[in-house]
Amino acid sequence: MNYFSTRDKSLKFSFKDIFLRGLAPGGGLFLPSEIKKFNKEELNNLSKLNYKGLATEIIFNFCKEEVSKNELKSLIEKSYSGFKNKEVVNLKNIGDINLLELYNGPTLAFKDIAMQVIGNLYDHLKIAKEKTVNIVVATSGDTGSAAIAALNNRENINLFVLHPHNKISSVQRKIMTTIGSSNIYNIAVRGTFDDCQKIVKELFNDNKFRSKINMSGVNSINWARIVCQIVYYFYSYFRLKKDDISFSVPTGNFGDIYAGYIAKKMGLPINKLIVATNENDILQRVINTGEYKPKKVKSSISPSMDIQVASNFERLLFYIVGEDDQRVSLLMDLLSKEGFFKLDQSEIEKIKKDFEAVKINDEVTQTIIKNINDEFKFILDPHTATGFGAAKKIKGLENIVVLGTAHPFKFSDTIKKATGKNLEAPSHLKMDVDKKEKFDIIENSSSQVKNYILNKIK
Ligand SMILES: *Cc1c(COP(=O)(O)O)cnc(C)c1O
Repeated sequence: MNYFSTRDKSLKFSFKDIFLRGLAPGGGLFLPSEIKKFNKEELNNLSKLNYKGLATEIIFNFCKEEVSKNELKSLIEKSYSGFKNKEVVNLKNIGDINLLELYNGPTLAFKDIAMQVIGNLYDHLKIAKEKTVNIVVATSGDTGSAAIAALNNRENINLFVLHPHNKISSVQRKIMTTIGSSNIYNIAVRGTFDDCQKIVKELFNDNKFRSKINMSGVNSINWARIVCQIVYYFYSYFRLKKDDISFSVPTGNFGDIYAGYIAKKMGLPINKLIVATNENDILQRVINTGEYKPKKVKSSISPSMDIQVASNFERLLFYIVGEDDQRVSLLMDLLSKEGFFKLDQSEIEKIKKDFEAVKINDEVTQTIIKNINDEFKFILDPHTATGFGAAKKIKGLENIVVLGTAHPFKFSDTIKKATGKNLEAPSHLKMDVDKKEKFDIIENSSSQVKNYILNKIK
């Protein structure tokens, strides 16, 4: 098995290559040439495994040329040893909704689940053995802290984290900026998350710069992240023991929900994947109307979803256009030249077979947080609350699992406003957020970011 690009099927890369590169040459995203499809009997066997065993079986299919199953097993053991519960995730009932809590890791968001594995993969694949690797990552608030927790103090690795200045919650920022390790650099960019992501892509596409600094990336465009997230879709299905399962997923960059789409391709009988967005609803618009048109980003109370350029959508597009890399390239060209593209009716219908999409605005999100607390004495974070809102809006689906993407403590101010409650830091938060913060503020410019990095590593 190898990997190709959504914009050029003739390219061939190994897992190690795509792990290191993140983005394909020419700007496309990597996809695997084969996706294992489990039959009924295999699914039945998988259903008996615990979370870590299941993770080993699923992830192995995407990296078996480079990692043996035993090595992967111990790598996964190690990755999840610091989680609050042994089963990594936790499924519970809130009324008629099944909530999958994904925030038991060291930085309280689902990003830890993939990032901890990725941190250990850097070591295992010996990527930083001979030459220092410089990882550059854009964050809408949670990826950065998860990456820092996973890569902090690793030998021969520097991590540069770009976050949009003043556009993430203060707890989100503090988890990143109080760490104080010498291999971690926090950069507050005067712009939005989309600007940060654009800068990272520009750096990747600058071959000279990329090879000069031996650059790598851990954004959700890195396929390894998606792979780790497939696991909990299977896990939910096996624990819920219901066919006809659907998932409601708070969505920004389309990475987490895309893992569900791959799970379905792997034979998991998922009915619908529900995209829940805040007012930055480009995905809601493209799924319901076919028009993919980024607008200006609005700041919301669910900042990790304040995204208008949902990069991983290109990976869905590839399958929707019948695996036609030329058409993907054409649409992406249109997007960069005209600022939008439009899918035809048959393409929209194809998407609608697997997806629903709902926008939930801040006011409704706050009401949901308040109501769920009043009725069930349970506090949802604002992202997860949009998933609840979307689940309630779509009629006719049973057995909905909402992905709980972050712990509410990260958004204490919003919780206080919605419920009047003051939240305390949960004990599994591994960072002391009261320490002194360290970050640099930089203009929204890729050349300034390049200079910053070159200065720091010389
Ligand atoms: C990253 C994030 C999301 C969005 O996930 P995508 O993979 O970007 O769609 C939703 N909620 C929280 C809390 C996040 O950190």
